[in-house]
Amino acid sequence: MSQYPQSPLMGQMMSQPLLISSLIQHADRYYPTTEIVSRRVEGDIHRYTYHDCHQRSKKLANVLKDFGVKMGERVATLAWNGYRHLEAYYAVSGSGAVLHTINPRLHPEQIAYIANHAEDQYLFFDLNFLPVVEAVAPLCKTIKGFVMLCERDRMPASTSIANLLCYEDLLSAASADYSWPLFDENSASSLCYTSGTTGNPKGALYSHRSTLLHSFASALPDALNVSARDVVLPVVPMFHVNAWGLPYSVPLTGAKLVFPGPALDGKSIYELFEQEKVTFSAGVPTVWLGLLTYMGQNKLKFSSFKRTVIGGSACPPAMMKAFRKDYGVEVVHAWGMTEMSPLGTCCTLLSKHEQLSEEEREAILSKQGRAIYGVDMKIVDDAGKELPWDGKTYGNLLVKGPWVIGSYYKQEGGDVLEDGWFPTGDVAVIDIEGYMQITDRSKDVIKSGGEWIGTIDLENIAVSHPAVLQAACIGVMHPKWDERPLLVVVRKPGMEVSREELLQFYDGKIAKWWTPDDVVFTDALPIGATGKILKNKIRDTYRDHQLPTA
Ligand code: ADP
Repeated sequence: MSQYPQSPLMGQMMSQPLLISSLIQHADRYYPTTEIVSRRVEGDIHRYTYHDCHQRSKKLANVLKDFGVKMGERVATLAWNGYRHLEAYYAVSGSGAVLHTINPRLHPEQIAYIANHAEDQYLFFDLNFLPVVEAVAPLCKTIKGFVMLCERDRMPASTSIANLLCYEDLLSAASADYSWPLFDENSASSLCYTSGTTGNPKGALYSHRSTLLHSFASALPDALNVSARDVVLPVVPMFHVNAWGLPYSVPLTGAKLVFPGPALDGKSIYELFEQEKVTFSAGVPTVWLGLLTYMGQNKLKFSSFKRTVIGGSACPPAMMKAFRKDYGVEVVHAWGMTEMSPLGTCCTLLSKHEQLSEEEREAILSKQGRAIYGVDMKIVDDAGKELPWDGKTYGNLLVKGPWVIGSYYKQEGGDVLEDGWFPTGDVAVIDIEGYMQITDRSKDVIKSGGEWIGTIDLENIAVSHPAVLQAACIGVMHPKWDERPLLVVVRKPGMEVSREELLQFYDGKIAKWWTPDDVVFTDALPIGATGKILKNKIRDTYRDHQLPTA
């Protein structure tokens, strides 16, 4: 398998493949009584331990064996964050099959497209997705059985699905006597499709080795910093890049796991945080906005929550400040993508930064951060020439590393690497200390008179205004400058701010010519399947917007 030459003297350590099954075996052996708590789709709270999870994962592995699922075959899930989904994570990958987590927020046609593309053999789904599954089942050409993640009494009296099975029935009939097989660590373990904002979704096919290395690296102190003393609640869904690897890295560290199920509103999340004494969480900015709004309205505080990782889209500095100042929660800004398993960079300070003023430290922490060990990055111009790390020069961001994609599943898109590096599609600057800051996605950047305007800065300034809840900046056609920025704003409930006030708010905060030409107010911004603001939809809506000519 290795493309590299062998030394005449090879190391003499045990040869043991890095396999996902070893994580749950470790958690069971060393943290058997540590809890996994889930808010279920059924509405109640379920609790059990790593030992119980391991036992049931082995039962599920026996079920898959009886189904005849072979190594390398894909088994799909359509499920929220919960213990049964975790069992599928370990049983499917651990037995040598490939876990394909499907985003249930996708359109049924897209779900069917990726299930067919992946040639999924079975689909495990949460009971509230029954209508979705009924809609997609006739379109799915390879799925032999649909397993509903529930007890018998929740099964529908009648359904159009041909082979509908009950998860708990299958598990109670199965034995927990199962030995996890050993196989090549480069075998495929799981499959995630990119959300495909343009064109069809493409699959990132992870291996056991890439997943294990990503788990080790992401648990490090300057990354997610998870330990056996933590209580971790992954808000990021297990269908969004494997919940950023937390279902693997948390059992690796022995921390307690808390799953929120489908209840991702501010109130439900807050109550679960308090009830289970959550210390650490991770999610995209839009979810945190809901939590902070709920807490502000009800004058609530956290009693245990200490640290959260925010990524997936740029975390506005105003949100970081609110977390730290108002709630005593440290925010670690992280950047990555489906093609990177997903973690690439995390932003934490160096000891020399302790001398800096609070403002200077905040400025550093608002960046996307330094590469975690294993990931290397560089910025290049359009001709591929490497650009300096001076904190000013921006260029296309390229990455490489053992958990970075080499090619898409089934070679979709052909050869995607540029000289061994993966082009991320992001535009960034890197400073002398290696702190990277995303200025934009290359497709969102505004091209004004031959110069680039990064929209993230413009949005961050807008949301630091006390009356602004959310903001998105897009380029619209301009007769002289090609494109100029238009700011689309959602005001906080009951708050007022005018177009003129907002435009003035930019004075002194940014180069004058970056200031948006116009502001429009709206009730809500379109949010995509992974909780991100959909810029392409906003561009469609305001395509013909007439900018003031003055
Ligand atoms: P998709 O590309 O399908 O939307 P991903 O979750 O893989 O799904 O998105 C990866 C992209 O999200 C990155 O390329 C980048 O543009 C954006 N992103 C992720 N984290 C951040 C961050 N901290 N700041 C700014 N952009 C981010």
